[in-house]
Amino acid sequence: MTALLQTRALHKQFGGLSAVADVNLEIAAGEIHCLIGPNGAGKSTLFKLVAGTYAPSGGEVMFRGENVTHRKPYERVERGMSIKLQVPSVFRELPVAQNLEISLQRKASGAAMQREKRRLLELLQLQDDADRPAGILAHGQQQWLEIGMALALQPTLLLLDEPTAGMSPQETERTGDLITRLNGEGMTMLVVEHDMTFVRQIAQRITVLHLGRVFAQGSPEAIIADPRVEEIYLGKGHGH
Ligand code: ADP
Ligand code: MG
Repeated sequence: MTALLQTRALHKQFGGLSAVADVNLEIAAGEIHCLIGPNGAGKSTLFKLVAGTYAPSGGEVMFRGENVTHRKPYERVERGMSIKLQVPSVFRELPVAQNLEISLQRKASGAAMQREKRRLLELLQLQDDADRPAGILAHGQQQWLEIGMALALQPTLLLLDEPTAGMSPQETERTGDLITRLNGEGMTMLVVEHDMTFVRQIAQRITVLHLGRVFAQGSPEAIIADPRVEEIYLGKGHGH
């Protein structure tokens, strides 16, 4: 297996709290890997360590065989990493097309950029909204626009933190189709998600995080059938 991304004993301390502790993760080139776990498990923190938003308290991040632990976020983007954060960060007052251009201009210019912009608008089914301010789009469409801004950076590895939050079941399914399609074109995906229907739709492998640590890892079938995994969700008070 070629690991595109590898974390080694990755650790993040916030005061007395180990938000991420001793995490060893291997993401193979070409896979869709889902990261699940109860609220507060450390999923978003792990993402920020991988993307370089946070410096780790310990451990290493390897990307394409290179130690990127001390690389800045933009240096990781240059090497083919792109992230959509949990909290949407589109420029609300700017038109949809211009939001895409802001990301696209880091990789292309002129006619090539215009072509790529049209391709993304079509892929995200935002053609009719290209000239509208991003802030007036439906929540699901804003999520897509943000995925588009991440795609504009032409990533090898796309990190998506809760891409379907606030989406209807139909929008969620379309997002799953989009992710599957991009993966079919060769993109590796690491996806944080709550919605297990969605995880079932897309995941090829799953890592369960609990209290900052890797709790379980395996195929979707194995994880869904694991009673210990259900317990940690129930233990957080869901369903009571
Ligand atoms: P998840 O995304 O799995 O819900 P997070 O990574 O957001 O979990 O949070 C993991 C733990 O770290 C939580 O207990 C959270 O309160 C804490 N935490 C996250 N970010 C910070 C921060 N910037 N400062 C202090 N504590 C934080
Ligand atoms: Mg989170």
